[in-house]
Amino acid sequence: MAPRVRSDEESDTCAACDRCVTRWSACFDRCVKILEPLLVVLAVGLISLDALTFFQVVMPEITTRQGPLVAWGHALWSLWLLFNVLWNQLHCTFSSPGTTLEVHEQALQHAMTYDWRWCRRCNRGKPPLSHHCSICNRCVLKMDHHCVWMANCVGFFNYHYFMLFLWWMWVGSAYSALVYWLHVPWLLRLDDPNWERKGFLPFFMFVLSVSIWLGISALFGWHVWLVLTGQGTIEVLDNNARRAEAARAGRKWVNPYHLGAGANWRETFDAHGRWWWLTWMAPRRRRKLGNGYVLPTVELLSSGLRPDLEAQQPHVRPGHAAGAGYG
Ligand SMILES: [Zn+2]
Ligand SMILES: [Zn+2]
Repeated sequence: MAPRVRSDEESDTCAACDRCVTRWSACFDRCVKILEPLLVVLAVGLISLDALTFFQVVMPEITTRQGPLVAWGHALWSLWLLFNVLWNQLHCTFSSPGTTLEVHEQALQHAMTYDWRWCRRCNRGKPPLSHHCSICNRCVLKMDHHCVWMANCVGFFNYHYFMLFLWWMWVGSAYSALVYWLHVPWLLRLDDPNWERKGFLPFFMFVLSVSIWLGISALFGWHVWLVLTGQGTIEVLDNNARRAEAARAGRKWVNPYHLGAGANWRETFDAHGRWWWLTWMAPRRRRKLGNGYVLPTVELLSSGLRPDLEAQQPHVRPGHAAGAGYG
């Protein structure tokens, strides 16, 4: 059967549709860019309100019932949780995920291999696992996703902050829900005439903590699985398609970035040494080791080479380094 040739009229319609979609998508990206800082402020505001309610309502109850020593324990633990949540959230928001625009063009060209693509918008090579974010308008190294709650892309240099934010929020919201439940006697006495005055805020915080805990359980669980299997949010579908295609051809597809569950975890959190299983969750400002455009693969590690570590700092443009991460 002869291929159907598109008429001029149809071509004009398609081009008009494409222009329309492009315009709407650009408009959507601009709206997200404007609104997302408000979401960051909202998140910090709710977290702070939860902490304030805890100190105003729960702490006096714990002091009266269990004594000042136990109350001090709760105070120190809750401040530690609050510090870790805010530390990781703000670092994820204000540190660069790493972009190809921050790397000297020469270094990119030098590292370029057959599996790189070309970004026409950045006019630069696009390394494996990097993607162009239309909201940030830049190619992000090892991009996972654009997070509106962080008002930033999550990529190679700030993914661990994002994961640690989820981890501490998960622990913190469970703790918050539990202390409201155990230590606010009038929490669910909705028929009490004074409930609205003294019970509404703890009740609201309890419901919020439970909802956040449920939501983060799913999100954090998903990201833990991604880390343990050496994948990013964007790559999962591609990897599944490659796996299925290989299976149809009677072959087995192996993810080259899956270094093993433990090694993936250590690479992601840049936690090495004997105590890595404990230090991965420690707060830190040090810039993550590696450059984000040459990534460790099974092949590289088995050959004993680490070009990602050898070529990290000298190729980062000094003008961009300050925004490219901390430490
Ligand atoms: Zn780009
Ligand atoms: Zn982005």
